[in-house]
Amino acid sequence: MNPRILQTTIAGSLPKPAWLAPPRQLWAPWLLQGEALAEGKRDAVRLALREQERAGIDIVTDGEQTRRHFVTGYLEHLDGVDFERTVTVRIRNRYDAKVPQVVGPVSRRQSVHADDVRFLRAQTGKPIKFTLPGPMTMVDTLYDAHYRSRERLAMAFAAILNAEARELEALGADVVQFDEPAFNVYFDEVRDWGVPALMKAREGLKCRTAVHICYGYGIKANIDWKAGLGAEWRQYEAIFPLLAQSGIDQVSLECANSKVPIELLALLRGKDVLVGAIDVASETVETPEQVAATIRAAMKYVVPEKLFPCTNCGMVPLARELAAAKLHALAAGAAIVRREIEQN
Ligand code: ZN
Repeated sequence: MNPRILQTTIAGSLPKPAWLAPPRQLWAPWLLQGEALAEGKRDAVRLALREQERAGIDIVTDGEQTRRHFVTGYLEHLDGVDFERTVTVRIRNRYDAKVPQVVGPVSRRQSVHADDVRFLRAQTGKPIKFTLPGPMTMVDTLYDAHYRSRERLAMAFAAILNAEARELEALGADVVQFDEPAFNVYFDEVRDWGVPALMKAREGLKCRTAVHICYGYGIKANIDWKAGLGAEWRQYEAIFPLLAQSGIDQVSLECANSKVPIELLALLRGKDVLVGAIDVASETVETPEQVAATIRAAMKYVVPEKLFPCTNCGMVPLARELAAAKLHALAAGAAIVRREIEQN
């Protein structure tokens, strides 16, 4: 990676083209089949990359164009998970969703994302990040009729994710990120087995490893939940010290339009912090100056070498033009602060 400071990146996902999947919805169905779908996904990755490169994003992703959802898109490739007989469960104590059930030991027949990383690596000279669901969030997005233990199931998923991550690293992924939005809901479990499962997932990796924790996409259930959290969101206060002591290299979290007290970032000393400076729940495009202000606020607690301006969360539910404009604002805001630092 080049040594420049305030390198920009995104949480992971971008909207899909309307010819690939209906826009502005989670779990949107594919509009193509067979070889046309495979080719359509590759074209969508090319466009997602082009959008990031044109905006000037430094560490790019595939925009998660090849999966329908960040958790079930992985689960559907595993044995032991039954997608035919779904069960309605409450996700992160917040909203009901029809989810698959675990009916036997979980295992992976082959790498799920090797082809995706190989393709992404071949399409860009920039550092690439690849995102995977985290073990706790996987456990929280299905019904377990087999293990009858969230911890044992999480450890089984962690072993699968570790094998996957090692392959993706070998294929050229510079950063492997585990998405753990469940980390700010189940604090005791995060301590008891959430962070240990995350450590098992990253075991032995030499590339950078990241964890993304957040207050969710800009969907109604999340917005309603956030409205009830009070004036200050201190959930991260319980988690940051655990992550600071862990082997994870980077922590991605939301800071734009957030009620997370910014001084909590001090609890992450020593880690790279992916500072969310783009609100994914807002239809308004941030100005570069607004992005710069969020970065400056975070810089009181994070040195510029360890600060990576980022989006609050995935942008998959946004309109495509809006997401593209937000990418440009992110890069432009980071450039403002970079110039200020270099002039001093
Ligand atoms: Zn998120």
